[in-house]
Amino acid sequence: MYEINGWEVVIGIETHMEVLSQSKLFSGASADYKPGTRPNSQVSFFDAALPGTLPTPNWFCVQQAIRMGLGINAKINNESIFARKLYFYPDNPSGYQISQTIPLVGEGYLDIHDDHGNMKRVGIQQIHIEQDAGKLLHDKNPIKSFVDLNRLGVELMEIVSKPDIRSPAEAANYLRELQAIARTVGASNGNMEEGSMRADINVSVRKIGSSSFGTRCEIKNMTSFKFIQAAIEYEARRQIKAYESGEEVIQETRRYSSATGETSSLRPKESAPLFPDPDLLPLIVTDEQIQAIRASLPELPSARKARFIKEYGLRESDSALLIEKPEISNWFEEAVAGKSSRTKPVANWMISELFAHPDHNIKPADLGELVDMIADNTINGKIAKDVFARMLAGEGTPLEIVEKHNLKQTTDMGAIEAIIDEVIAANPDQVAQYKAGKTGVIGWLVGQVMKQSGGRTNPGIVNQTMAKKLA
Ligand code: ADP
Ligand code: MG
Repeated sequence: MYEINGWEVVIGIETHMEVLSQSKLFSGASADYKPGTRPNSQVSFFDAALPGTLPTPNWFCVQQAIRMGLGINAKINNESIFARKLYFYPDNPSGYQISQTIPLVGEGYLDIHDDHGNMKRVGIQQIHIEQDAGKLLHDKNPIKSFVDLNRLGVELMEIVSKPDIRSPAEAANYLRELQAIARTVGASNGNMEEGSMRADINVSVRKIGSSSFGTRCEIKNMTSFKFIQAAIEYEARRQIKAYESGEEVIQETRRYSSATGETSSLRPKESAPLFPDPDLLPLIVTDEQIQAIRASLPELPSARKARFIKEYGLRESDSALLIEKPEISNWFEEAVAGKSSRTKPVANWMISELFAHPDHNIKPADLGELVDMIADNTINGKIAKDVFARMLAGEGTPLEIVEKHNLKQTTDMGAIEAIIDEVIAANPDQVAQYKAGKTGVIGWLVGQVMKQSGGRTNPGIVNQTMAKKLA
């Protein structure tokens, strides 16, 4: 259990994810506001809040949030209610954000690892859908600010956890799992670096053994796993220190600075007024619609990880790395192509070599071919590294590379023995040491044979044959 001097940390996370969709939640304008898109080029009359325009819920956007809901084992509400959250700021000309009072997705849960590698369940309170805001541009002109409404109205889903998280590592594991699920069901790309996944982290502390919660502070807009963990640790220690010196912790919104590693007060906790949107009917989703969406879902990351362990005999930690992105799990399974002899070597090559080259162009079947060539002794492990480097450089398939550079292992025992005899004859000192009991020297002798053969011999066979000759 994670504890700080007899105190326990209690964490609940509100995660915002930008939903993948071609158009916005309530208008037909494009939801693609990538950098480089001309400002205000993707704004419908409704987005601009022209009088008389009405919102039209986008069924695809609704389905995306339902997919996410089913991914977190949640109950989908047959009826949910859109509501206006009033606020006044130039990033939204209507003066309100459309969110939900009764959420589309009700209670669910995720199973994650705790600090000791044991599974624990984190409850999820709800997922509601809402509009993103526009962007203010302050760096275009020294005395003017501009507003770009391309992002306004793009769908966000807010995933609210219960306060079930108990350590910085659990918080990161929870968010990683959410990210993997969103990517697998296709609801969001969950890229924290790009801001398409952001987390508000609520932190409180309490004496171990206490059954009531302490006052929470909310650290806003975190977009890095590393900083989230650092921020929780700092914030927990700050609150403990306050309690221990007889001060109160005030419920407030705080920000984390990666430069100082500290959190600081931003504003007191505010709650905006929310009321049902008179322009929108209750959102009705039928059981048949939910069933159809459920039937269309791919295998979820937790199920896939369990299958990789059971079916392929992979280690838990390797399996976890391979399911982080669906493209990677798919690539792995394509490379294995149902051949059990390939599973572990393919996993090892991917994790230890390929992950360092995220933009590689290697085809899954080619890595499969490479590990087969090692297994059937066509090439040895050392040569395989060279072949792999050439594959990365785009020289072709493993077979083509091996043939072009004549890298096949010599299977001609006569030729191997001839080199061994030569090496024995040329190194009488080492041979004498070996015979005197310093058997470790055989490694050096085998190395000489490997060198003379240009690496194209099997070190195991050379070792065996050499030992026989020296016996
Ligand atoms: P609000 O709407 O005021 O933000 P919510 O009930 O939606 O309040 O809770 C926001 C988040 O705060 C949730 O993720 C919840 O798990 C978390 N939370 C609630 N109480 C605590 C607490 N005492 N300590 C840490 N997190 C908490
Ligand atoms: Mg909240």
